[in-house]
This record gives sequence, structure tokens and C-alpha cells, in this order.
Amino acid sequence: MERVDKSPDRYKKSASSGLQSLKGVGPKRAMLLSRLGIHTIEDLLYHFPRKYEDRSLVKKISQLQDGETATLFGIVTGVRDIRPGRGMTITKAALFDGAATACAVWFNQPYIKRKVHKGTKIIVTGKAERKYGDLQLSVSDYEVIENEEPVNSAGIVPVYPATEGLPPRTLRLIIKDALEQRLDSIKEFLPSDVLEKYNLMPIDRAISSIHFPGDLDDAQKARRRLVFEELLVLQTGICMLRGTVSRTVGICHKKDGPLTAGFLGRLPYKMTGAQKRVLNEISRDMESKKPMNRLIQGDVGSGKTVVAAAALVKTVESGYQGVMMAPTEILATQHAEGLMEVLGPLGVQVALLTGSLGKKEKEAIIQDIRDGRTDIVVGTHALIQDGVAFQKLGLAVTDEQHRFGVKQRAKLNDKGQRPDVLVMTATPIPRTLALTVYGDLDISVIDELPPGRREIKTYWIADTEKQRIYKFIREQVNQGRQVYYVCPLVEESEKMDISAALELAALLQSDIFPDLQVGLMHGRMKQDAKDMVMKAFQNGSINILTATTVIEVGINVPNATVMVIENADRFGLAQLHQLRGRVGRGAHQSYCILIANPATAEGKARMDIMTRTNDGFLIADEDLKLRGPGEFFGTRQSGLPDLKIADIIRDYKALSAAREEAMALLRRDPCLKLPENVKLREKLMARFRDTDNYFSTS
Ligand code: ADP
Ligand code: MG
Repeated sequence: MERVDKSPDRYKKSASSGLQSLKGVGPKRAMLLSRLGIHTIEDLLYHFPRKYEDRSLVKKISQLQDGETATLFGIVTGVRDIRPGRGMTITKAALFDGAATACAVWFNQPYIKRKVHKGTKIIVTGKAERKYGDLQLSVSDYEVIENEEPVNSAGIVPVYPATEGLPPRTLRLIIKDALEQRLDSIKEFLPSDVLEKYNLMPIDRAISSIHFPGDLDDAQKARRRLVFEELLVLQTGICMLRGTVSRTVGICHKKDGPLTAGFLGRLPYKMTGAQKRVLNEISRDMESKKPMNRLIQGDVGSGKTVVAAAALVKTVESGYQGVMMAPTEILATQHAEGLMEVLGPLGVQVALLTGSLGKKEKEAIIQDIRDGRTDIVVGTHALIQDGVAFQKLGLAVTDEQHRFGVKQRAKLNDKGQRPDVLVMTATPIPRTLALTVYGDLDISVIDELPPGRREIKTYWIADTEKQRIYKFIREQVNQGRQVYYVCPLVEESEKMDISAALELAALLQSDIFPDLQVGLMHGRMKQDAKDMVMKAFQNGSINILTATTVIEVGINVPNATVMVIENADRFGLAQLHQLRGRVGRGAHQSYCILIANPATAEGKARMDIMTRTNDGFLIADEDLKLRGPGEFFGTRQSGLPDLKIADIIRDYKALSAAREEAMALLRRDPCLKLPENVKLREKLMARFRDTDNYFSTS
């Protein structure tokens, strides 16, 4: 079918996409689709519905309950627009289903009037509400029935993620056309024994049924197949990646010598069993010729820093340089100072590189790194700027890795020739997921706290009881202790966080604790101002430190025993756990006070977990259950694979099976060169080509 089209780049576009060969797709819609990442017809077929609406169960208007979401079928008996205010339109259509009349309502979609007229037959879905004695339906989806034929005759209608400029029905019709034109070109690529073993639908049926199922059971079976397929591709990719990594040759570090012994001897404490075990795992990796790619997971306060420090010393002892990147200047400074103190007397040159250094100073440090005069450099993002180059980088450490994007970590690792790589996190990933999320890393867990730590007592209190909290703070301060007071997180902007912090600090200082010293710290402060506040808190001249979440990671002030968190229900559990980890670092009993009035049962459950356990892994598990992986990991850059249809929690069984099959497959055909695996290989390349979140780490 030829379309008349004046767009100049029409040929270019249609040649590259093929999408414009579909009915109803011109340059404009092709562009809208490409914004969704849909460039080819195959992409379109893999654009899966979010859910379904069962229109085979069309309701009678007379049966509608107030508040229910339902689908109606009827004939329009009249349409009118109402303009309650400037720029607002409400379109109302009276709908008669043969027995009763309801009013379908669209908000701010004036173009509806062009499509819906007196006499139009229409299916509408929406939320029913009785208003002024009328039955109204706020329309979320509708379909004008031309020639009596709805998109799916079975009545199960796919609902796709909302797309601006592409009405639901249009998208359905486009996909339907794509199926009709191209379904037979979609070739099976899963081995037939796998299909049989797991009782999976063949690809063409699955693709067709996921869009237009015969019934919901059919949709479910289609989903099972596609989930398995997606996870198999993912796991095959991860397994292949590990295979490749293990074949490349990295740095062979030397066995521990006097420098390492000197370092360990100068520590003011004995390492815990867990620290020793993890350090052994790291040493073994570093000494082998396979490049190390290891994650240390350890709860807040488990003592990850010293383990990383020992690894840095090891690289120096072998004649290399080491680097450690931390997410904040405060933390980088703290790490650098700690290392200088222990290593300075041993003749190891430690430098600190942050963004707030003067230009001259920075250049001098960068020159020292390049010439190899600096042995260990600790810093912030400033480290991954282009000017920074090492003479001989042996080990790259990233602390609090979840605060960095994978690209940033990769940039750090690229500063050397396949240096060994260590990343650390205090956000425990539930064990069941670690393999998927960190499939390309080896994992070490520090699962023991240094001795003498007392459990932090956690209380959850409503904000009507602030007086009690103030009284408690005062008691602690009278005993010589110090307090963190983290203020409400305002999601919209950092600016608002800060003004909330300012207000809170002023209130605490002038009204509640006029006789004490209240400090304030937030992310927008200049570095030297932050340093001053931090020093004052460290040496005890500030009693109460009000702060935004800038103090979330790493800060170590053992005399601080109280962590108060306002509006605690606005934080993720992992974040609360991190904040709580700022106290309980010394000999004194510590407390965490969560101020929250959560409105939902989930919110209450989350506060409750915090009061029940100090175990970061348990909290992570619960958080994951309550909020699901997307929220849990925060952003995409956390390394969570970007999945189209599978859900790594819900489909965990399929995930394990897919992993097994992936390994079996690769044992038979390590590079996927056999003819029957060529399609899988193609899928894999496509899958990992434009995700920067997996394969770029090595
Ligand atoms: P995290 O794992 O949260 O980064 P840190 O490395 O900051 O924890 O360690 C927390 C505190 O515990 C620090 O003050 C550190 O000096 C101390 N520490 C670490 N290991 C031990 C140990 N084996 N015995 C006693 N204290 C330790
Ligand atoms: Mg740390």
C-alpha cells in the first residue's frame, strides 16, 4: 500500500525501520515509536502489554457499582463539551446500553468530539462514580467499534504502557497488523528439548498470544514462555561474560611481604574472622593472573574499609599504584586521613584528590600520580576526569558502589591495564538475587561485626511525641554523647531538602536547645564549610548535627549515639539502615529514633521491620518483598538488568532454571557457534548492545 507523504526523509526512515510498512504508521508515528525504543517490527512485537482488560465481561450499566472500574458497551446518544475554566475541556457522552444510560467523561481531550458522535458504537473502560444522581464513567480507555469488529474478538484486550500521541486503540491496531504481516518471520531459537522440558509455547504462538490471547490462561502461558526466553538470554550473556573475563590475563600480585605485615601490625585491633576470610579471598584473586572482579558486601560498620586498605597495601607492595573512589568528599577525606595515619610511617605516599582542590594543587597531585610518586590515591568523582592517569595501576577500589553508575566505575577501572577491581557495598543484596544483579562479579560477604558492638535500639515514634525525643536527646548529651538529626526528605528537590534542614536547625538551636551547640550540614555547602562542621562534630564541640542525607554514607564518629530521622517513612529501608549505621560505632549503647506517621499498611510494616532487626540482609529481603526490585534498587544504574517481561522476584524459579540451561548450553557450545544457536547469539548481541549496565564493567 502506498501512502502519499511529503516528508523528505521518508525513504531513509522507512528503509531503516520497516515500521512504516505497517497500516497507520507514517513518519510521525514511527518517530513516536522510536522514542519507546521500537525501531523495527520485531521490536514492536516484543513490546508487551502491561496487563489485559477482559471485555468479554462487559457490564450492564444497571449493574455498575460506585467506585468500580468496568467496561461498558453502548451507543452514543449525545456528546457535549464543557469548559469549566480556561484551557480545560470536559467531554461528556451519553451512552445507552439498551436498558440504561450512563455518562462517559473524558478530561482535556477535546479531540474526542471528532471521533465520538451521536450514533457511534463504543466500548469504554473506566471508573464508575455516582454524581448528582447520574452514573459517570471516567474513561481510561475506549474503542470506537467500526464495522462491529473489536481488535480482539476474544474480548481480552492488551493494555500497553501509556504512550503520548499513540492512543491505545491505535497501538493495538498497529501491533495487530505487525502480527499479521510478520509473525511467520519470527523464528524459534530455544532448543526443542528445553521447550519440551519446561512445557513452553513455541515462539510464534507465544508472541501472538501475549498480544491477543484467547483467554487469560493463554496469556499466562505466553508470558511463561517469554519470561523464560528473556531470562535465558540474560543468563547466557552473564555466563559468557564470566567465561571471557576468566580467559583474559591481568596482574599477578606478589605474596604478602613486610609492608603488608607492617600494615596489619599497626592496626589498633584484630581483624574479625569474616574480615580475614574476605581478605584471603581477595589476596588469592590478586595473586592469580585472572583479573579480580570482586564485590565485598558487608553491613554498615562491618569493617570493609580496612580490608580494602589491606588490598591497596598489597598492590603497593607488588610495585603498583592503588586507587579508591568514594561518593562524597567527606568520606574520601576520612579514608585518606585514615590511610595516611597508618601508612605514612611505613613510607607509603597517600594522596587525596577531590573536586574542591585548587587548580594548582590538583595539577600537582595529578602529576605525582602520573609519575608514580603517589602510591595510593583516594578521591571522589574527580578521579575519573580525563586528566588523571596512572603510571602503573594495580588495584581500583570503589566504595559504596551503589552511589556510582556502572559507567563511572568502568571509567575508574579503565585508568589502568586490566587492574584488579574491588567494589564495596553496604546495601546488601538479598542472597537470592546477588547472582543476577552482580552476575559478572565474584562476591565476598563480611557477615560478622567487630566485637563489642551493641545492638542499636530502634524506636518508631509518632511526630506528636517530639517532646519525649527532645528530652531523650538532652539526657544523652548530658552524658557526653552526640546526636545526628536527619531532617525530612523532600523528594522534589535538593533545594527544598536544604531549606527544611535550615529551618529545623534554627528551630532546634533557638527554641529547643538554646544552651547546646547545634550544627548543620547539607550537600550544597562549600567543602571547607562541610569540613569545619565535620571537624567540630568529630571533636565534640557540636552536640547535635542536623543534616540532610549527605551523612548517609561512611561517616565515622564513635561518640555519636543517637540518630533521629524525621519523616522516616519517606526513606527506603536500605537508606534508613545506612543512616542508622552512623551510630553504634563506639562503646556506648546507641539509639535510632524513627519519626513517622505512615498512612499505609506497607509504610507501617516497613517501620516495624526497622525496629525489629539490625540485620541488613534481612531488611533488604523485606524491602524487596514490600517494594519490589525497581524501587529497591532505586535507579537503573544500580546494575539491575533491565527486563521487559520477567520479574526477578516473582520469576525466581524460572531464573534458576534459565541459569542452569544457559550453563548447559554453553558447555555444549561455548561461543554459540553451532547453527541452532546462531539466533540466540544474535538475540544476545542485541540484548547487550545498548545496555550499558552489564557488559561495560570489564
Ligand atoms: P563499613 O563496613 O561500614 O565501611 P568501616 O570500615 O567504616 O565500616 O568500619 C567501622 C568501624 O569499625 C571503624 O571505626 C573501624 O575502625 C572499626 N573496625 C573495623 N574492623 C574492626 C575490627 N576488626 N575490630 C574493631 N574495630 C574494627
Ligand atoms: Mg564504609
